Amino acid sequence: MSKGKKTVWITGASAGIGMETSLLLAENGYRLILSARRKKPLEELSEKIHRRTGTPAWIVPLDVSDRIAVDKAVGTLPAEWAQVDILINNAGLAAGLDHLQEGDINDWERMIDTNIKGLLYMTRSLLPGMVERGHGHVVNLGSIAGKEVYERGNVYCATKHAVDALSRAMRIDLLSHGIRVTNIAPGLVETEFSLVRFKGDARKAKDPYRGMTPLNGRDVAETILFAITRPPHVCINDLVITPTAQANSYYVQRHE
Ligand code: NAP
Repeated sequence: MSKGKKTVWITGASAGIGMETSLLLAENGYRLILSARRKKPLEELSEKIHRRTGTPAWIVPLDVSDRIAVDKAVGTLPAEWAQVDILINNAGLAAGLDHLQEGDINDWERMIDTNIKGLLYMTRSLLPGMVERGHGHVVNLGSIAGKEVYERGNVYCATKHAVDALSRAMRIDLLSHGIRVTNIAPGLVETEFSLVRFKGDARKAKDPYRGMTPLNGRDVAETILFAITRPPHVCINDLVITPTAQANSYYVQRHE
């Protein structure tokens, strides 16, 4: 067990914001537990982290929406990884962009199961240890979709509003235990997010970023690093970050 180094468990580390955050945090001296469903990108990321920092990451391939698997993964962590100081609930997705009356109920289930229930399963499993140790930090990836709703965003927006509400609720419930809770709410970030939303249709996936410069995973990673490196008496509650060309979910300045 390396002295003084904080242990971070990050979900959704196989791509996008999660992958960039894992790299940045490892470079800044954190020990990383990496989770996602796809094992290969986690292995490659762990090797990269090892090469860059000399410290390997621990890999836990996991579907966060599988409650039993989450409990088992937390319960079977090796002793040297078992004290998790920071949980980053980043795994999440949007599936589809349809008017509610035409929505695919399977898409709804996936978003609710991952973005809300997965976040809850991870948090419920790891919080008792943080409470026992009297410190910890939970960082939830919300979205500007959790601040306002937009046409055809219905269920995705609802799940991110739930993340926003749960972040505020956790902060109250954990107040007497010295545990910090941060909600990070990005606007447009170019990752695999849009490709997942449009089910592999690369042409449609490019459309949200047309004629503007979106955020990238590293931009969001830097805000997460900022939040977790504040002094112990400071808690960043809620951080909204958009590209300069985006005012909110409705207004995007495009040059076409
Ligand atoms: P991304 O590139 O698609 O990455 C999503 C990550 O979540 C992947 O590593 C994926 O890994 C993982 N994941 C998805 N379902 C999972 C499950 N059931 N169990 C475990 N891992 C799962 O998207 P991103 O943009 O980095 O998104 C990260 C977070 O930021 C999400 O919560 C998203 O809602 C939020 N966000 C994104 C944007 C944006 O514009 N990109 C804006 C606001 C908020 P596997 O497929 O390997 O499981």
